[in-house]
Amino acid sequence: MDIEKKVWEVLLSEEEIQGRTKELGKQISEEYADKKLVVVSLLKGSFIFTADLVRRISIPVKVEFMTTSSYGHGQESSGKINIINDVKGDLTGYDVLVVDDITDSGLTMKHVMAHLGTKNPNSVKCCVLLDKPERRQVDIVPDYLGFTIPDKFVVGYGLNFGDYYRNVPYVFVVTDQDR
Ligand code: 5GP
Repeated sequence: MDIEKKVWEVLLSEEEIQGRTKELGKQISEEYADKKLVVVSLLKGSFIFTADLVRRISIPVKVEFMTTSSYGHGQESSGKINIINDVKGDLTGYDVLVVDDITDSGLTMKHVMAHLGTKNPNSVKCCVLLDKPERRQVDIVPDYLGFTIPDKFVVGYGLNFGDYYRNVPYVFVVTDQDR
């Protein structure tokens, strides 16, 4: 699909995303106030959401990154999740919050949460900006959620189209109509 010949429809504006991120940061700060919080950001898709979210968290927070296999240039999950870059060491005494851009089939989050659970943390929860519940293949409900969205391929605010458009500050949908 050649994106230049497609129509972009803004799904979530910069203001909507920032407003919701602020609320999530406040809620997380309150609920983890007496805990040792470590945010685990899933690369690459969640790097922008994580950067904004952690700046809205007002308690001490450790930030780690993990890389899992992604959709690459396609729009469908391969169904097989590989951990390419792991969090080093164990997580004894920490409460883990896995942050991702979007939960689609749920396979990535389910796999990552189970994996981090083997590192002996006190708890493992997740926070995702976007959720497409219609696409779910495994039983998982985000503990903290920005927005529920329809079953459409979305781009921007960290989400890629091929290797590009992660830097667009809002979330948009690419339609099949010609301009
Ligand atoms: P899941 O394992 O839940 O099927 O997929 C999670 C990952 O797939 C996300 O972190 C994201 O990288 C990718 N993904 C799922 N849906 C979309 C989408 O609509 N747009 C983009 N750009 N990536 C998506």
